[in-house]
Amino acid sequence: MPPMHKVVHYRNKCIGCGVCYEQQPELWRMSKRDGKATLIKGVRKKEVFVLEIPDASLDKSKEIALACPVRIIKVS
Ligand code: SF4
Repeated sequence: MPPMHKVVHYRNKCIGCGVCYEQQPELWRMSKRDGKATLIKGVRKKEVFVLEIPDASLDKSKEIALACPVRIIKVS
């Protein structure tokens, strides 16, 4: 199996700017309900949402984490 990585989204702190969705729509959508970003297929773990991503998505996801203006996306 290829190595897996993790995206963690601190959704409560999301300001709904839309940058993650604009740059990586395969992983993000914007909620019509509360205007925040939602990590597609992310699994809720207490305050955060977590998604395992393949090696191939790592670089792009790190870029998005840096682009988030409130830095609430963590990639490892
Ligand atoms: S870039 Fe950050 S603040 Fe903006 S919508 Fe995405 S998670 Fe929310």
